[in-house]
Amino acid sequence: MTTSKTALRYPGQAIGILGLAFLMSACGGGSDSNSANGGGNVSAGNPAPITNVLAPDAQIVAYLKSSNIDFIPGANGRPEGTWRWPATPDQHVAVYLPAPATGNATEQDYANKVTTSVNLINAKLSGLLVLDLTGTRPASGNFIQVSYLTSYVPQGSTDYAGYCANVATGPNIGSMIVPDAGNNIASGPVYVNLGNGQCNVTQDIVTHEFGHALGLANHFASFGDAPANSWTLAYFDVLATLYGNPQSTPAANIVVKRAKN
Ligand SMILES: [Zn+2]
Repeated sequence: MTTSKTALRYPGQAIGILGLAFLMSACGGGSDSNSANGGGNVSAGNPAPITNVLAPDAQIVAYLKSSNIDFIPGANGRPEGTWRWPATPDQHVAVYLPAPATGNATEQDYANKVTTSVNLINAKLSGLLVLDLTGTRPASGNFIQVSYLTSYVPQGSTDYAGYCANVATGPNIGSMIVPDAGNNIASGPVYVNLGNGQCNVTQDIVTHEFGHALGLANHFASFGDAPANSWTLAYFDVLATLYGNPQSTPAANIVVKRAKN
């Protein structure tokens, strides 16, 4: 929802995945209209709300390219093209939602919002992707883990709203998830860190974070960048397109898929 800060600390080349570290994409409820994203975001170019306007196919491809395809090219030896959770269509991805602490209204609120966002994404991506909520931590394998009150706030920062939530390889850290040599999401688990005790985790923020957890690395107009009230349509179409094409599909070969209404 706000400024994204993506920085490559180590050039990719032949170093292992554990050698790769990235700053987070900060996502909060603020109103920043400009992105400091280093990932080459597509500029909105149009300040008017576009909520009910279908983005053209070329725009969807451009968003997917800037957010996913162009993210750390070659890192871990990954081939050109898209990266994501594997084996679509109809890929199932477990989402571990820990039970809120008894009497903790904040955690309960976040848990409710996660359920709402998961149901929304499943409806929008029907036939392409299924997020399976579970209250039991999977014993192995890659999955998404929801974590309460563990958003990464950089040392020295007091911008708690700007760093209200993030997706990373663990709690309280800003290391972004990365693709492996097969263009699979390599982190296990992928943490969705919600809240830090000093910000308002909105429904939109939760839905936004799942976009990161599904492979959208860099923000774009309709995903974290202004205008704030116009993000949903293209966002879901970009996700549908990501999961409606095989992994490692280069931008030139992308077939745009539209989310369900
Ligand atoms: Zn974000």
